[in-house]
Amino acid sequence: MADCIFCKIAAGEVNAKVVYEDADTLAFLDLNPQAPAHALIIPRRHLPRLAAAEDIDAGLLGKLQLTAVKTAKLLKIETAFRLVTNNGKAAGQSVDHLHYHLLGGRKLLWPPG
Ligand code: AMP
Repeated sequence: MADCIFCKIAAGEVNAKVVYEDADTLAFLDLNPQAPAHALIIPRRHLPRLAAAEDIDAGLLGKLQLTAVKTAKLLKIETAFRLVTNNGKAAGQSVDHLHYHLLGGRKLLWPPG
C-alpha cells in the first residue's frame, strides 16, 4: 500500500529499529514506547486489521505469534510479556496495517484502560 507507513518500514523505505525479521513478518521498536520493551509485530503483506484476516491468512497469523515469541526472547522479556492488537479506531488503532504490540520489562496492569 503506497501510503502505509508500516508497508514502507517493511520495504526498508522508512527506518526503524528492527529486532527480528523473516520472509513474512517483521518486529521493530515502537517510536513511542509504553514499557521498557515495546515492539510492534507486523506482517510484511498489507492487512489493515485483524478483523480483515480470512481463513487463508491462518498461517500468517500463526507466524506473527511465533515472531512475537522470538522477539520477546531477543528483548529478554520471554518470561513476562503482553501481546495485544488494537482493532479499529475506538479500540485505539491509529495505523491501518495489522500490528501486535509486544510489551514487557515492567509490571503490566489488568485490565488495560
Ligand atoms: P496503534 O495505535 O495500536 O495503531 O499503534 C500504532 C503504534 O505505532 C503506536 O504505538 C506508535 O507509537 C507506533 N508508530 C507509529 N509510527 C511509527 C514508526 N514510524 N516507527 C515505529 N513505531 C511507530
